[in-house]
Amino acid sequence: MEKKDMLRQIPGVDTLLQEPDTVTLCLRYGRQSVTAVIQEEVARVRKKILNCKSQEEGEALLMGLRQQIYMQAEKKNSSSFQRVINATGILLHTNLGRAPFGKRQMEAAYQAMAGYCNLEYELEKGSRGKRQSHYQDLICQVTGAEAAVAVNNNAAAVTLILSALARNKEVVVSRGELVEIGGHFRIPEVMEESGSILRETGCTNKTRIEDYRKVVTENTAAFLKVHTSNYKIVGFTEAPSVEELVEAGKEYRLPVIVDLGSGVLVNLEKFGLSHEPTVKEMLKKGADIVCFSGDKLLGGPQAGIITGKKKYMEIIENHPMMRAMRLDKCTTAVLEATFREYFNEETVWENIPVLKMIGRQKDELKNQAEEIRSALWKSGFRGEIQIQEDTSMIGGGSLPGETLSDFSVSIKPEKESTEAFAAHFRRQSIPIIAQVKNNRVFFHMRTIFSEEKEIFEEILKEVLLSGECL
Ligand SMILES: *Cc1c(COP(=O)(O)O)cnc(C)c1O
Repeated sequence: MEKKDMLRQIPGVDTLLQEPDTVTLCLRYGRQSVTAVIQEEVARVRKKILNCKSQEEGEALLMGLRQQIYMQAEKKNSSSFQRVINATGILLHTNLGRAPFGKRQMEAAYQAMAGYCNLEYELEKGSRGKRQSHYQDLICQVTGAEAAVAVNNNAAAVTLILSALARNKEVVVSRGELVEIGGHFRIPEVMEESGSILRETGCTNKTRIEDYRKVVTENTAAFLKVHTSNYKIVGFTEAPSVEELVEAGKEYRLPVIVDLGSGVLVNLEKFGLSHEPTVKEMLKKGADIVCFSGDKLLGGPQAGIITGKKKYMEIIENHPMMRAMRLDKCTTAVLEATFREYFNEETVWENIPVLKMIGRQKDELKNQAEEIRSALWKSGFRGEIQIQEDTSMIGGGSLPGETLSDFSVSIKPEKESTEAFAAHFRRQSIPIIAQVKNNRVFFHMRTIFSEEKEIFEEILKEVLLSGECL
């Protein structure tokens, strides 16, 4: 067949639109959207035929046109936001949404979204209520704080605290704590944005309490301590304790603000992790204000939680910027549900997924890996597959350099590059995100929930047995 004849064989847009399969597509996705896909695909096939080298190639393009239209229409209309399976071994993966929710947290979100709610309404009195009322007392009970406020994230919390308490005034920070957290959160820049003036003191590795005292003037508004959550300075180091800072703060009548980063409320040492200061500890030691993220080790929604002395919380809560940073109904509901879980010190380890993952035992992880391998073998997979002891990380800028023991299943692709191989898993109905290293693709067990195991196996089988890649 000549190219000319092949081009003539491409069906017209109107013809395609009248075919029963296309009519069904139009009913589902709308005529306008499907017409656009058809036009694009017809143009694409035309161009490819003009450039193709063999008759077979041209015929294949003609044959595949309808299938392409169908696939493109589906793709264009499928949701961009998707659930994924995290096989990276990074528990708080910022790119994958940080902390996953448990049943009661999800139920709270669903209830908040399903209709109207009492977000700012007092049911007893039948009058206007306070949005913060749903969790303020709970946070105080769980952390021992006098008062609490929540905003959209911890970056917002730090900005708000500084704007409310230190605008046009100096805030003293150690040179060892001028932190950058991923995504452009840099302490010096946040301070500038908040209108406060950074007064650096001490050295990168060593800062003593005298260094803080030395730089206090009548224009000093606060001492700020930033938890170095995503790096460690090791070797010849020194930093004043919170107690020392509090003592100096009292002397000069200056509040001590602590940006804790990750809001840990429980003790993680029993899992071999080093001590991470808890919110309760910081407040008990006398810090005036402690702020932390909702979606790091707390295991809740994206939020910034500010706790501390009532007199400061009142100033913060009444600051005009508060309005621009307030939580929506969905986050409010999930935040309340999260703090409720912490009332029960035993079930919290089961009900907050991040804590549950941290608590998973090696035997369980090994079994899960073996079950997955057996399932693949049973289904006829004959490729090379290994189980190995591995490590996972907390991530999300928490506990840098520390690992949790783990087991992983790894596969070495035979036909293609490791990157191309890993990409197959990301294209599935529930994408699987794996780790690529040493020419192998690793699936970490600790971050694959036991409830996900079966669907994980199904997807693995689908990719590995399709013959596409091995
Ligand atoms: C993570 C972190 C932040 C930013 O918190 P987000 O909730 O991500 O905005 C700020 N400060 C420290 C010390 C952190 O670890």
